[in-house]
Amino acid sequence: MMLELRDIYKTYLQGKLEVPVLGGISLTVEEGEYLAIMGPSGSGKTTLMNIIGCLDSATSGEYILEGEDIAGVSEKRMSEVRLHSIGFVFQSFYLLSRQSALDNVALPLLYAGVRRKERQAIARRALERVGLGDRTEFKPTQLSGGQCQRVAIARAIVNSPKILLADEPTGALDTRSGEQIMEIFQSLNDEGVTIVMITHEPEIAAHAKRTLHIRDGLLVNSSGKPVTSKPAADPTPAAAGPAVAKAPAPAVDRTREIVTPRIKAPKLPKLPKPGKHKAKAPADSGAEAAPSAPAPSVQTPPPQVPAPAAAPAATKPPEPSREEISGQTIIESLERQLEALNKKQDPSGPAKGEGPANE
Ligand code: ADP
Ligand code: MG
Repeated sequence: MMLELRDIYKTYLQGKLEVPVLGGISLTVEEGEYLAIMGPSGSGKTTLMNIIGCLDSATSGEYILEGEDIAGVSEKRMSEVRLHSIGFVFQSFYLLSRQSALDNVALPLLYAGVRRKERQAIARRALERVGLGDRTEFKPTQLSGGQCQRVAIARAIVNSPKILLADEPTGALDTRSGEQIMEIFQSLNDEGVTIVMITHEPEIAAHAKRTLHIRDGLLVNSSGKPVTSKPAADPTPAAAGPAVAKAPAPAVDRTREIVTPRIKAPKLPKLPKPGKHKAKAPADSGAEAAPSAPAPSVQTPPPQVPAPAAAPAATKPPEPSREEISGQTIIESLERQLEALNKKQDPSGPAKGEGPANE
């Protein structure tokens, strides 16, 4: 078994108000599965994915990932798990806009301690893998949305994660580009990568081997009835009432609440990595140092980081909230560590085509 969620609850605190989002989710994902999770906007999909991806923890319930009880582990451990076992693909790509496709893809390998030459060779192969062998030097702004997403996939798989988590991976793409993404997912799954994909498009979900539906924070069967142990369909807690749960929590406040703590605790980025290569933890050195001495650069570059890279030709993602927060968290730690590592790890200096230092 790859992972198991048991009776997962997630409640956000909005000021003094409790906002129940996940109301007792239990599910199992086997190794090699290709699972789609569908549900309307606001039903808790991204919240669920963030928990599965160790980007966030549940309020209660058990989460076992590859035999490890995740529910109680430290932030640090969560980031290691992300680094070693999980690849992420988001609706809006989250590429570093000033880096070439190759450098974007090679990034996770930095943390794995892979040397530059090898990094580039591996990244090139990953790009070839997604059909972009001829675009290695292109920057995200010079690529179409579909191509950006393929770069993001190459980055997600460059360290051979066991699980690929995708949150609306085709949500910002035209149909044909979306189909290309689905072909890539299919071939990855054929090779044994476990995929959990969130989507609200039935045509996209149809590519998965199994589909689960989520509504108001509960898994439901095809007739809309909850399939968890909880018989009561309504996640309404005694006092809060549905109005609370649905109250469109001010996105701005939420962003602040979430982004701030996350940035302060610079965890490792999402970068997947096959823990097997080297037990070396180069990322840690960068990450560990950061809390007390946060890279000053982090604050400065955010403007050009996520959004612009994402939207050359592609449509702007319609629902930024949770996904954007996670994506941003990831990309910010990426940049921070990239800079830290460029300084430390490659004393050869900002070699050609390496890192932002040469811009
Ligand atoms: P989906 O991805 O299915 O559209 P989300 O998981 O992003 O849904 O959000 C589910 C619900 O949880 C929404 O009603 C949203 O407003 C709420 N929510 C998400 N994050 C927070 C938060 N940090 N604080 C309060 N409410 C939140
Ligand atoms: Mg979402």
